[in-house]
Amino acid sequence: MENEDVREVLREAEHSFERMPETIEEGLDVDDAELVQLRRACRLLAAGSLLLDRGYYTVGIESAFVAIERTIQFRLLHDGAMGPSEVISSHRVLYQRGAEVGLDDGTFGDELAELWTQNRTKTYYRLGIATKGQAEAMLELATVLHQHPVDGSRVSYECLCEV
Ligand SMILES: [Zn+2]
Repeated sequence: MENEDVREVLREAEHSFERMPETIEEGLDVDDAELVQLRRACRLLAAGSLLLDRGYYTVGIESAFVAIERTIQFRLLHDGAMGPSEVISSHRVLYQRGAEVGLDDGTFGDELAELWTQNRTKTYYRLGIATKGQAEAMLELATVLHQHPVDGSRVSYECLCEV
């Protein structure tokens, strides 16, 4: 692919985000910042399950981690512990903030951050290739960490997950 072709497709991708929305993904057309995070988490869990079925364990695990993060962001927004325009770019900080709003006890954030770092290191440096068991365990963890804060919220009926 020539440089000019790459620029053209980049421009096209940029424009697609600038245009007025046409066909919006069903289920995600909500306005509240907290509901956007909640529904993204629901979708990531569903996607993770599909990926697991296809044998795509590595990206299945990534979906599980991102689902956990979206769920934490949902709960932080829901509890007013985070502003809609606030961005928490550190995984560790996000997990710790989740622990602070009662998603689990004090060591939860650190343990989750450790798990994330371990997974990252292994998949990036090819020290290990993701297994079915790991993907299943991570999706189970992400599902439990989704249900608990969602069930305890005022908007549990907004969850798209089929339990
Ligand atoms: Zn859900």
